[in-house]
Amino acid sequence: MSRAERRGPIRTCLGCRRARDQRELLRIAASTSGALCVSRDALGRGAWLCVDSRSCIERGVTRRALVRALRVDVTDAAVNTLREGLFVALSADVRDYGAVHEAAHGPRHQMTKG
Ligand SMILES: [Zn+2]
Repeated sequence: MSRAERRGPIRTCLGCRRARDQRELLRIAASTSGALCVSRDALGRGAWLCVDSRSCIERGVTRRALVRALRVDVTDAAVNTLREGLFVALSADVRDYGAVHEAAHGPRHQMTKG
């Protein structure tokens, strides 16, 4: 992963509404089917969230906030999965996008109940 020297654009956190350099924020993206992921590269609208704040996850990663920010209908299940993954990443002090993505989705995608 290459790291650009230049400053990234400023984005506003979905949770606390603070404007920060986008490198300090996670980008949440939704597919048209409503699946959520943490990705800088995913197409479509993105929602931004402080990478280091539990309260921002709690306030920002809600169905209402995400639907408004992403303009895509998302399910409670998708929101809960993302939320759990972000909390796991936060408690593990993961600041890397790829690792957060893996935490949110699991190495084997999603475990389904039998
Ligand atoms: Zn925030």
